[in-house]
Amino acid sequence: METKMHIALAGNPNCGKTTLFNELTGSNGYVGNWPGVTVEKKEAAYSKDKSIILTDLPGIYSLSPYSPEEVVSRDYLLDGDASAVINLVDSTNLERNLYLTTQVLECGLPVVLGLNMNDLLEKRGDKIDAELLSKKLGVPVLFASALRAKNVNELVEAAKEAAASGNQTAPSIFSEKVEAALTKIEDIIRSFSSEKHLRWNAIKVFERDEMALAKLALSEETLASIEAIISEVEADFDDDSASIITCERYEWIADVIAECVVAAPKKLSTTEKVDRIVTNRILGLPIFVLVMSLVYYISTSSVAAGTAATDFVNDNLFGDGWFSDDGISYVFTHEGEHMGAYEDAVAEFEQQNYEGQIDAFIEAAEAKGINTEGVKDAATAEEPTPEDEALLSSFVSAAAAQDVVVKEMPLKDADDNFLDSEGEPVVTVIMDGEEQPVLEPGQKLMTVDVDAEGFVKAYEAEEPSHEEFGNWINGLPVVIQNQLEAADASELTVSLVIDGVVAGVGAVLGFLPQMIVLFCFLSFLEDCGYMSRVAFVMDRVFRKFGLSGKSFIPMLVSAGCAVPGIMATKTIENENDRRMTIMTVPFIPCGAKLPIIALLMGALVGGEGGWWVAPMFYFLGVAAVVVSGIMLKKTKRFAGDPTPFIMELPEYHLPRFKSWLLHVWERVRSFVAKAGTIIFGASVLVWFLSSFGFDGWMDGANFGYLPSLEGAPEDFIEFSLLAGLGNSIKFLFAPLGFAKWKAVAATLTGLIAKENLVSTYAVLFGLGELGESATVLWSQINLEFTVNGVVHTGALIAFMAFNMLCAPCFAAMGAMRNQLNDNRWWGFAIAYETCFAWVVALMINQFYELIVFGNFGFWTVVAFIALGYMLYMLFKPAPEPKAEVEVEVVAEA
Ligand code: GDP
Ligand code: MG
Repeated sequence: METKMHIALAGNPNCGKTTLFNELTGSNGYVGNWPGVTVEKKEAAYSKDKSIILTDLPGIYSLSPYSPEEVVSRDYLLDGDASAVINLVDSTNLERNLYLTTQVLECGLPVVLGLNMNDLLEKRGDKIDAELLSKKLGVPVLFASALRAKNVNELVEAAKEAAASGNQTAPSIFSEKVEAALTKIEDIIRSFSSEKHLRWNAIKVFERDEMALAKLALSEETLASIEAIISEVEADFDDDSASIITCERYEWIADVIAECVVAAPKKLSTTEKVDRIVTNRILGLPIFVLVMSLVYYISTSSVAAGTAATDFVNDNLFGDGWFSDDGISYVFTHEGEHMGAYEDAVAEFEQQNYEGQIDAFIEAAEAKGINTEGVKDAATAEEPTPEDEALLSSFVSAAAAQDVVVKEMPLKDADDNFLDSEGEPVVTVIMDGEEQPVLEPGQKLMTVDVDAEGFVKAYEAEEPSHEEFGNWINGLPVVIQNQLEAADASELTVSLVIDGVVAGVGAVLGFLPQMIVLFCFLSFLEDCGYMSRVAFVMDRVFRKFGLSGKSFIPMLVSAGCAVPGIMATKTIENENDRRMTIMTVPFIPCGAKLPIIALLMGALVGGEGGWWVAPMFYFLGVAAVVVSGIMLKKTKRFAGDPTPFIMELPEYHLPRFKSWLLHVWERVRSFVAKAGTIIFGASVLVWFLSSFGFDGWMDGANFGYLPSLEGAPEDFIEFSLLAGLGNSIKFLFAPLGFAKWKAVAATLTGLIAKENLVSTYAVLFGLGELGESATVLWSQINLEFTVNGVVHTGALIAFMAFNMLCAPCFAAMGAMRNQLNDNRWWGFAIAYETCFAWVVALMINQFYELIVFGNFGFWTVVAFIALGYMLYMLFKPAPEPKAEVEVEVVAEA
């Protein structure tokens, strides 16, 4: 095996190491603007010469080990297998960067200094005399730009040469007195230390560095003589030895800079000018809200290609289909001549309530003594026989002769809603098992008079078919269903594939186009440097709650969808803060929860005047995050101040197209991977639960696929395992006011995708596929929450609140698992969310019951205790943090 040469990349955070590393190795490491993104070192082969292995070390400011990053870097530089080091520095910030350089030079390894960000340096007009700098440092110095891929291979070449020419001797940078002391110490410890690390060790011993002293294991005697040398110098300088070293490093650097750097006359750079406004104390927040609102507006509103494409995927590709004659523009505009004509025809057909008119007319004829036997069947037959036609025509003439007319028959739309004279659906209530419209003063129902002619028109009306309107392309479910049926697949297989797999996976993939647009914006904002400003601005606000500013971006993203929100936690380097953020961001109402809110709004106030419902749930979500954050911070596990937020704000720059696309792709890929696994499994499970069962729960009769069971009722879902499950766990929800199996079953299907709750509810009420705006559904739900003729609004709100806050949908749960990367934490997070939701719903229901109905009981007491505990957690002082990192370092030393 040929021997590999290792070259380390060392430098301050944000000096461009990862960018260089990616450029040299062709890998796709995370280029973040946050400190601590690279806590681990990362290795990969140089793409031009595989025998060279490059190591991306964590970004650090010095080699005195205070942080895990510093320990990793120091250990590697001293005892790792590197043959040379490329010390990358941000050349626009030379003074601070060279501090680390002076230490790297002492590690005994050959060093090449890379003056990175040369593009920015040139733009500023500053000049660095590289030749002179090289002479001062005693190492090769090269200009480079990792971002623009300038001079990057030359850096590796130089490192290779340096490695071949042998070990580094550090330049003498300290004052005469200190250098003399160091030389004396070198002589004393020579037998304890390798020649290569002699100077390093001497300096560390002089600084009384505990890690170095422990490693050298000097004898008592030696230590005493060294201590004498150090004390003498300290007395001389009237300072402690470590500070003397630090000071002298800076003094030396200042001298070097003065000689080697010619700064252009200082003017405010564009970045500084922009930052004056963008990170301004007062303006920072509003600007940010504006930027993000714009991003969300564009990503989710109909003007964006993403939203249009998402609609297309949901409604057409994973729906019935579309007309190819409408062209590709249909995908983005959702408007096409053929589709328009077809939809108009359907709308007209649906508004005419043909079946209702047929029924009403036959009833009126019967009242006048006309024989109506078989008329209904003949009128509604799909392919009327000649006998049917004969029967109908004699019926019609008999009715016409007697002037049968139905006066002012109310019309209904396809969803079974009454319509007012404007064509708007009318709110209904159920009285005596019949639906009754509720009219406001002046409101009139849309009615029609049906005479014999109208009756003929009604039964002759045909549902429009696609083929009449153009070249129709079937949607995926239709295509797959046809294929399966052609292959003689059983009804069971068809249902599994169509209702289980295609519906479930399709629901998730539908989000994809919209998410791509969102991801493009977010990646752009992140890559160009804006997001680090945001975190900085938000940090001021969040710190007051004990949270870090970095928790904010995931929260914000979650308002669209929790999946990318949870993914965005990747940039939070503090483990505790990251876990906490992952656990709490699903509380934010995502897009899929909007139909639930709309449903509640309808049920509460009948669709009008309910503007406060949506904001109420949004703030409930935000409050849940903040309250959870504060409470969790008060527990031992999560305690500790948020890590101090020290961050280099990089100069604004246009991201490179390639890396921008890579970031978008990275996010998209993990999302799709989940749709393919977790959601697949979960959809099949829920499909199984809802289509298998016993054909009669009470008698415990045959078990099997319900639609094919002998004698199974039409709305078989009542007999499904899902219903059984709902019935057996509904008692858990009794204190929350909704011990109803339908509510529980709807909650369970909401786990696939939250908007499922609405459609499941509709199916369970035997109403077919209804949307959240169907008034029948509203009245049915009100009925569910009615006891002795009184609607228990508190229970209704509690039910909705529970659904907003409990475990998120399977996609989000999958993302949580992916990011937590630990099944125990994952389980804890989901349990926490669900318990929190339960407690909140309990309080809502119990306090409502107490205030409105004066009901007081055991659970009211529990609700008060829960409230008390919450308040106690919110206001008690924070405990001492668990000092994990410190313990580890001490143990190593
Ligand atoms: P690391 O913390 O040292 O790994 O630094 P990164 O590679 O994550 O880079 C930090 C930021 O500096 C990123 O936004 C990069 O795009 C940017 N950057 C890196 N190299 C250059 C460069 O040569 N010129 C400019 N203008 N920006 C750069
Ligand atoms: Mg990095």
